[in-house]
Amino acid sequence: MQLKRENLIPALRLLAAQGEILVPTAVDEKVSKFAPWDGSSAPDLALVNTTLPPKDTLFPHQEGMYRYKTAGEPSLEEIVEAPARILFGVRPCDARSIDCMDKVFLGDKYEDAFYARRRANVTVIAHTCAQTGPTCFCDSMGLSPAEAPSADLLLSDTETGWLVTAQTEKGEAVAALWKDLTAEGGEAAPAPACTLKTNMSDALAGTLVSRFEDPIWDEVCHACLGCGTCTYLCPTCYCFDINHEDHGGEGTQFRCWDSCMFSDYTRMAGGHNPRPSKKERLRNRYLHKLAYFKERYGQILCVGCGRCVGHCPSHLDITAFIDKAAERFGEGK
Ligand code: SF4
Ligand code: SF4
Repeated sequence: MQLKRENLIPALRLLAAQGEILVPTAVDEKVSKFAPWDGSSAPDLALVNTTLPPKDTLFPHQEGMYRYKTAGEPSLEEIVEAPARILFGVRPCDARSIDCMDKVFLGDKYEDAFYARRRANVTVIAHTCAQTGPTCFCDSMGLSPAEAPSADLLLSDTETGWLVTAQTEKGEAVAALWKDLTAEGGEAAPAPACTLKTNMSDALAGTLVSRFEDPIWDEVCHACLGCGTCTYLCPTCYCFDINHEDHGGEGTQFRCWDSCMFSDYTRMAGGHNPRPSKKERLRNRYLHKLAYFKERYGQILCVGCGRCVGHCPSHLDITAFIDKAAERFGEGK
């Protein structure tokens, strides 16, 4: 079924009755993010990829977990926040990143109740990429700018609007909601090729782990400032710290994003730090993305969104690292 361009706003109005709609929004000339739809104008679906990924909808930058009282009658109350939300216009790379986070937070052994509640109430509507940005490389990581299999519903660009493909029950509910606004016809535009290419392969993932002591890690780490920008902008980075804000006898326990690129991240109470320099920290980040996560969950933790490539103040580039490693170890595609 096709949703014509002129029916986009009526379609969003119907959706708005189901929950808060978050759409790609330019904050200024340099920054864009998913923000609440204003209820009247068409979202900017030409934005190639938002600067800030949509992950904070499911895994907020800071999230209250418990309220407690220690004075008087002690009490502990879990903070439950799971608003109904629709992420609209999510790019295929970011849809895949939600799939990665699901594997971590909704695993068969451990389920994170805070994430699970939010996730159950979020519908993901993905939008194929008609064009790719200068640092996009999802097709080198086994993905496609034209597919988002884990999204609830996929919108594929046509000449006059979007093909609507429901991919889950939630997606079918949206398609049913739009039935009077959609019609047969339309042909999906061909998928563009990503601008950036890199030589990632299954064999390289295994080889990187076995080259734990190779000089390559020293060679690539020097420019890193340990600023954490790469992890904060990465749609798949999910590390957090737990802390509390105490106001004398009562307070809140909360969690907030952490970064493995910070020197304190692995520092232990006695002062020992198993990752004492940026070499160990960058090695851990790259190995987690390219090898460890795949060993555990069967897929690479980098979706090729290119945010870390485009925004690292020191121009560290994970694709350049992959190419250097593939060449050195003879493990390219
Ligand atoms: S963004 Fe660049 S400089 Fe900052 S921590 Fe990441 S790799 Fe290092
Ligand atoms: S590692 Fe970089 S390119 Fe890969 S998903 Fe994270 S931010 Fe995107």
